[in-house]
Amino acid sequence: MLTMGVDIGSASSKVVILKDGAEILAGVAVPVGTGTTGPSRALQQALEIAKVERNEISKVVITGYGRMTFEGADEQISEITCHAKGVHHLVPSARTIIDIGGQDAKVIKLDEQGYVSNFVMNEKCAAGTGRFLEVMARVLEVHVSELQVLGDKADKVVPISSTCTVFAESEVISQLAAGQKSSDVVAGIHQSVARRVAGLVGRVGITPEVVMTGGVAQNAGVVKALEKELQVSITVAPRSQLTGALGAALIAFESSYRAGTGSTRRNKSR
Ligand code: ADP
Repeated sequence: MLTMGVDIGSASSKVVILKDGAEILAGVAVPVGTGTTGPSRALQQALEIAKVERNEISKVVITGYGRMTFEGADEQISEITCHAKGVHHLVPSARTIIDIGGQDAKVIKLDEQGYVSNFVMNEKCAAGTGRFLEVMARVLEVHVSELQVLGDKADKVVPISSTCTVFAESEVISQLAAGQKSSDVVAGIHQSVARRVAGLVGRVGITPEVVMTGGVAQNAGVVKALEKELQVSITVAPRSQLTGALGAALIAFESSYRAGTGSTRRNKSR
């Protein structure tokens, strides 16, 4: 049975095609999210990679910030539930998930069965999210994926004291103008994200094993800074950006399997 998980975020669109709830035939992330051509491009690319037709997919589950805008899914499921499902599948011993996406950060606590026992979310402020890193990368004239390499060359951390993204951007510009090395400023940027997210973690507490998901987990500089802030080691989920889409595809498989059919076509929110 083939199932599909679609995760439409603010910054990227992700699609996973799963065979029999176990084998990933395709996993695609297109770096533009809701309100763009990202979702349809990700869908098309995933079908091409998996070499399957849309009508061969038994069930599609949609998740993410932009899930309401996507037509043609059988079911909508919250990001929290999908991340929990995806992480529990990949790392069964995970008890705390830290997900940093394009415009929010979430901390999700899991019980031993992988069910969500608690969660907190920052969705009101760009600080401590991927957007903060994108703004700072633009000031430094690098792509957001290059921040990690720059940060690795740091000799010291130039602290960024402003929590507001707009003021922090001015602070970064001033530090660079004052002659601070860009790599040291990047170390300060990573520390700023880590401090902000650590504050969120503090609201629900931390239980190992800690797993990081989302696009920002691809930046080992942020992961290391967060490990330092939290004094705990962090496992980065394999293909971290696809975890929500993977969870959605797994949920699609499980509900189709339980229903004893591969062709349920419902529209339901959970
Ligand atoms: P959303 O689900 O909200 O769309 P994602 O989980 O896809 O967000 O994360 C998007 C963020 O991930 C971007 O804002 C950016 O900061 C970061 N990011 C994306 N690609 C990379 C990369 N190759 N290396 C490091 N960070 C990245």
